[in-house]
Amino acid sequence: MNNLLDKIIIDIIQKDNRFGMDIDDVILNFEPYFRNGLNDYYETDLKKGDIVLYDVTKILPIKEKTGDIKELYKALKRMGNKIEFTQIPINEGVDDSLRLLLGKKFFNDGNDKFLINTSRSNELYDDAEIKTYENLRFNGFSYDNNIIFDPDKHYVAKAFGAKIFFEDSPTAALRMIEHNIPVVMPAQSWNIKTPRDIIFLDKKDAENKHKLINRLNNYEGTMLFRIRDFVEFGEYLKNVIKTYRLTS
Ligand SMILES: [Mg+2]
Repeated sequence: MNNLLDKIIIDIIQKDNRFGMDIDDVILNFEPYFRNGLNDYYETDLKKGDIVLYDVTKILPIKEKTGDIKELYKALKRMGNKIEFTQIPINEGVDDSLRLLLGKKFFNDGNDKFLINTSRSNELYDDAEIKTYENLRFNGFSYDNNIIFDPDKHYVAKAFGAKIFFEDSPTAALRMIEHNIPVVMPAQSWNIKTPRDIIFLDKKDAENKHKLINRLNNYEGTMLFRIRDFVEFGEYLKNVIKTYRLTS
């Protein structure tokens, strides 16, 4: 238990404070789909845990095959045009966690407590918005009104009045924190230091990654709350609800 996070969670459940969530690799288990799509396009053999940087154009096997952002955009378009793009499963434990945070409101289309914000755009995927709605609906969501497509997530979260945001990207998380919005961060190979950093990154990129992680880690426990995954987070929520005898 962490007292600061406990307090934020209590206020979400009892006072209807607002919160926000990113989609890819927070709500959706995007990494396998993304990695397979990269392997398909670049003819690489990236395994789980090999994507050690958010900017994959700097990961060595891809960098060798051009490392060009325009190529990456082509790879993303190809991924986005497959039917499976609208059928990416949600991460285990996300729906339980949302149910615990939102209570009865989870089933209410008009809930205004929870914001989904993604930087997906038509530049990255054709019909990004329609396909994202379809994908969330595929997983039983109906939050059409609360999905914002905007890469400046910290502005959106501020405007919405989110008291916490769930984010996996280290840069987006840092920006959020610098705008005084605490972050819950599920562990991913691009937001932690991993032994594979030195295998998959040039020295400079590995150093930059570690600097960024160090900056983030300075906030750990006060503004940054790392979780292993949503199964663990759901257990934590149940503990908070039990310990403080909360009802929503
Ligand atoms: Mg994400």
